[in-house]
Amino acid sequence: MAATPEADWVSRFADEVIAEAERRAPGKPIVCASGLSPSGPIHLGNLREVMTPHLVADEIRRRGHEVVHIISWDDYDRYRKVPAGIDPSWAEHIGKPLTSVPAPPGSAYPNWAEHYKAAMIESLAQLGVAYRGISQTQMYTSGAYREQILLAMRERAKIDAVLDRYRTKGRTASGAPQQGKLDEEEAAAAQEAAEGSGAASEDDGTGAAGYYPYKPYCSVCERDLTTVVAYDDDTTELTYTCQCGHGETVRLSEHDRGKLVWKVDWPMRWAYEGVVFEPSGVDHSSPGSSFQVGGQLVGEIFGGQQPIGPMYAFVGISGMAKMSSSRGGVPTPGDALQIMEPPLLRWLYARRRPNQAFKIAFDQEIQRLYDEWDTLGRKVVEGTANAADAAAYSRAVGTAAGPLPTTPHPLPYRTLASIVDITTGDPQQTLRILRDLDPADPVASLDETRPRLDRAQHWITTQVPADQRTRVLTEPDTTLLAKLDDTERESLRLLLAGLDDHWSLEGLTTLVYGVPKQRLGLPMDVKPTPELKVAQREFFALLYHLLVGRDTGPRLPTLLLAVGPAQARTLLTP
Ligand SMILES: [Zn+2]
Repeated sequence: MAATPEADWVSRFADEVIAEAERRAPGKPIVCASGLSPSGPIHLGNLREVMTPHLVADEIRRRGHEVVHIISWDDYDRYRKVPAGIDPSWAEHIGKPLTSVPAPPGSAYPNWAEHYKAAMIESLAQLGVAYRGISQTQMYTSGAYREQILLAMRERAKIDAVLDRYRTKGRTASGAPQQGKLDEEEAAAAQEAAEGSGAASEDDGTGAAGYYPYKPYCSVCERDLTTVVAYDDDTTELTYTCQCGHGETVRLSEHDRGKLVWKVDWPMRWAYEGVVFEPSGVDHSSPGSSFQVGGQLVGEIFGGQQPIGPMYAFVGISGMAKMSSSRGGVPTPGDALQIMEPPLLRWLYARRRPNQAFKIAFDQEIQRLYDEWDTLGRKVVEGTANAADAAAYSRAVGTAAGPLPTTPHPLPYRTLASIVDITTGDPQQTLRILRDLDPADPVASLDETRPRLDRAQHWITTQVPADQRTRVLTEPDTTLLAKLDDTERESLRLLLAGLDDHWSLEGLTTLVYGVPKQRLGLPMDVKPTPELKVAQREFFALLYHLLVGRDTGPRLPTLLLAVGPAQARTLLTP
């Protein structure tokens, strides 16, 4: 069936961006942009910075327009702080460009920025994100922005005046302007994001010797602890001093070791690349923020236009297990892709408008999410999904370049999770159980259930605490078996008598719900009564106690399949 993509937010932005691009630069490729700072592990929350323009660019491409999605690697930003888990001696590199800081010990990459970019690049490939990466180190050190830098220095008084309009507003606004609506968690996330971005408490170029929008990296210590003390517009001679004691005069028309301050750098790049769409997080969108100031500077100084720039809400995480806290406790897209397939992760972003906050589940919620995803997939096949849901689905499962890899035989995630939980991943046992699940549609090899099987297994082993894991008893609980009353004995007898004829997921479901009906003398298709529900609950609790020594566990049909008929008889025979 044909999805009607007009129904969703992606399509509405695509309409707007195409119209705007035709007005600004008819016939040119349409430019959508994201910026990422490889100052440390790139958080899963920052993925929205990429996914929002990715989805819009992909829709534009699907419609046959030429479009490029730029990801600007802010790898020429200063190294700000040593993250948790890194040797404190890295503090000596604070103030250097991220590409001049050594990679963490053991890394295969030449520097800090490359090390943290690599993991993101790998995740983006898995997610099917097509983009053109632009290293700001490469751009600045090659002199690509020479004219723009000289222009900004020439127009420094004007830039200072624009900034000053907002500096004043910032002072008159109350302490934390847009923070009121954020709950604590979002505020913390905002803080995280701000620290990881170019906007973080960077000085805007104001110094004792006047306003200069360009900041050199020191040629001796490589750090940006420099102050511009003089600049000559005619000769472009720039004099700076550094806290290390060094000082020198360079010719800016030949100097390639420095950068524009963030609030000037961003609008410069909008104009340089002709960006038409670039969303930003709330940390960039408050009054006096870099997005607002940039909107003035891009036109007044650089002769460009501000992109269409929706503000996106933060993406939270639910239930990230403690295992990751050694690495700072913040999951990366790579962490998410180890427990869910790329289409599911894409779907989480596609189905919510950018201004809607949502959470990515690392806890039990992931099982419900996968159920919802599978249900939507069935509805799409049947043609019963509504237009917006169908559009989100189609954006999740593929891009303009084609479909993303899928699991050939996608079994319910919660079933797979229960099975690998019980078998502790043993491949032979797992295959035996998977074969028995549905005799009408048997699983022939583990490979056809991958990668979903591997994701479920990774989730069980890394995210489910040991005390919630399932351990099937190896010996029958003879004490409990000896104390059973007649009703319980009769129920177990009926269950064991039916095992062979019901050995499938569906069959065992009928059997475990049916045993209490049989025992009460009710027909199998009876509507559940309160009495029956109580009987079923008591029977299930008994089975859990005898099979896994607890009140609850994975769904009983899955558990029985996993336990196997022989062991089930051993554990359930009084
Ligand atoms: Zn220095």
